[in-house]
Amino acid sequence: MTAGTNPYTNPTARRAYLSREARLRQLPSIERDLVRLGEMPDLNRWLEQIHATGGCAEPVYLTGHTTTLDADTGEVLRYYSTATEPGGRLAVRCRNRRATRCPSCSREHSGDTFHLVRSGLIGGKGIPDTVRTHPRLFVTLTAPSFGPVHRAGTCHPARRRHCEHGRRHGCGRTHPDTDPLIGQPLCADCYDYPGHILWNAMAPALWKAFRDNLYHHIAARTGVGRTAIRKLIRISTAKVAEYQKRGAVHFHAVIRLDGPDGPASPPPPWATADLLLETVHSAAAAVALPRPESAAYGDGRLSFGTQLDAHPLTNGDGGRLTDDAVAAYVAKYTSKSAETAGAVDRRITDLAEIRALRVTPHIRALIATAWGLGELPELQHLRLRAWAHMLGYRGHCLTKTRVYSTTYGRLRTDRAEHARTLAGVRDLYADWGADTTTESAWRFAGTGHTVAEALIAAGIAEDLATNREIAREDVERSERPGGTR
Ligand SMILES: [Zn+2]
Ligand SMILES: [Zn+2]
Ligand SMILES: [Zn+2]
Repeated sequence: MTAGTNPYTNPTARRAYLSREARLRQLPSIERDLVRLGEMPDLNRWLEQIHATGGCAEPVYLTGHTTTLDADTGEVLRYYSTATEPGGRLAVRCRNRRATRCPSCSREHSGDTFHLVRSGLIGGKGIPDTVRTHPRLFVTLTAPSFGPVHRAGTCHPARRRHCEHGRRHGCGRTHPDTDPLIGQPLCADCYDYPGHILWNAMAPALWKAFRDNLYHHIAARTGVGRTAIRKLIRISTAKVAEYQKRGAVHFHAVIRLDGPDGPASPPPPWATADLLLETVHSAAAAVALPRPESAAYGDGRLSFGTQLDAHPLTNGDGGRLTDDAVAAYVAKYTSKSAETAGAVDRRITDLAEIRALRVTPHIRALIATAWGLGELPELQHLRLRAWAHMLGYRGHCLTKTRVYSTTYGRLRTDRAEHARTLAGVRDLYADWGADTTTESAWRFAGTGHTVAEALIAAGIAEDLATNREIAREDVERSERPGGTR
């Protein structure tokens, strides 16, 4: 800065500077923030960083350094430090899978889920493509009724009789798909709220019982012992949890029959898709776990609902359930959560917060029930307060057996090289080479964007999504019969 333009030494420059500051102060905050960003000396580098996070809505900022050394000689091979980055910090992805929290990271997670489910269906990513000859089903398991709720389309037929609360358990109307009434109980006082919350909370245990039953029932049908059956076949699954409008969890799952060594080994000839299909029905129907004991509600058993869908996935069956469609269907649900049922996407901290939530009376009653039950010493193991915002369900969104297919970790590693190149920080992460050592120190330096930053990040995320969409359409076109490869 020359003396003539320095506002500290030159009165004219000072006047210009001060009047500019005054003008800036009068701008609305977002415009002021945009001006600030625009004047950032290392704006381009900041844009590169945000681009590398895919336009993450809630990036995590880190400060620190990494040194890669030759393990033998101790010679410094690479050195990276955030000291030269804008603000001395580096942005990394938040990795939140929820679309309501971060559209970009959620999209990336959905993409990973798609590849993870797809490779278990048709091979790839380390899975042999012979898996497509194994018996495979797409199954939907639902919760039972906890009381009648308004249904999409033709609702329950109108009834004369009233319940003890003076309400009819029939509505007689036709609800369009967007009707907010769908999923709301016909009588909230009759509705079994504790039963509903306990079912959601126990859903992972119900699923485990179902999987065990699958082995037992296949053993019984084929006259093989319960221990011996696990040496002959392996049942590989990938399932995703979804919320229905009424707030009950249900599962969509791919179930595959493998030989004893997983995807690389063919199942025995008697282990057919028909056998699996019959067993899925009997195994689900046989699940009945006792409710955790408590004086706060009656006893009873937790079972699956009678509504069970199971479709065999066959090769090239002319437009019915295709492998890609199933993978896409499952992936779609991992970006959603209890929000699809109108619940909230973060933890609840107290009762006052539940009262203030902008949710339907039904969802509020479910959250309040989970909160109330969460106080009981006998239900501590279900951690219902921590999972009240998930309506009691504390399972992962997507779970798979170990050998179903690849993992999120491996998919991320595959992609990391590309991302590092994009970010221009290839040296940041550990070198995979065997003869190097890495010394690093990292510190959390904050999270999130200012208003203007958020606006720019959202634009970047949108651009990337559009580009990906175009690229996918190109691939689909080239993979169509007769298309160019
Ligand atoms: Zn993110
Ligand atoms: Zn209705
Ligand atoms: Zn009633």
